Amino acid sequence: MERTTTETQSRAGPDCGGQHETAERIALAESLCATRGSKLTAIRRQVLELLWDSSRATGAYELIEALKRKHGRPVAPPTVYRALEFLISQRLVSKIESRNAYIPCAHPERPHDCLFFICSRCGESTEFEDPRIAQALAEDAATFGYRVTRPVVELEGTCENCMLTAAG
Ligand SMILES: [Zn+2]
Ligand SMILES: [Zn+2]
Repeated sequence: MERTTTETQSRAGPDCGGQHETAERIALAESLCATRGSKLTAIRRQVLELLWDSSRATGAYELIEALKRKHGRPVAPPTVYRALEFLISQRLVSKIESRNAYIPCAHPERPHDCLFFICSRCGESTEFEDPRIAQALAEDAATFGYRVTRPVVELEGTCENCMLTAAG
C-alpha cells in the first residue's frame, strides 16, 4: 500500500520516483499529455499548479479567485470548468463529489483507483493506492457486469493531526 499526500513538502512515499515538487509534477503532466496527443495549455497548467500547491480538496470558486489574484484580472468560470474537465479526462485530477472539490492525482502516469481519505475538520486530503481495494472493486463490479469508468473512492473522517489536537 502506498500513501501519498497532496501536500508537496512532506510525507511523500519512498517509491514516488522523487516527483514531489509542483514543478516536477507539472513536467510529468505535460509529458503525459504530449504522449496522449493532448496539450497542457497555460490555463490547464495554472489550475493544476494551484491544486498541487493546496493540501486540501479545492473548489472551483477558490480556483477562480486564486487565478484572479494571480493575474490581476477576472477569469471566466467556464474557462476554469473546462480546464478542470480536461484535467479529469486526463486523470490528472479527481473530483471529490462529497465536497464538490478537486484533488490532483499523485500518480497520473499509471492507471489506479484513487482512494482519498479526507479530514472533515481541516479538509486535508491524503491519497492512498491499494491494489487490494482496486481488485476487490473490479471483481464485485464484474459479478453483475458493471464497468467502472471513474474509480474514485472517498472516505470522510478525522486526520491524525486533528485527532491529536482534539486529544491535547
Ligand atoms: Zn490517483
Ligand atoms: Zn484534519
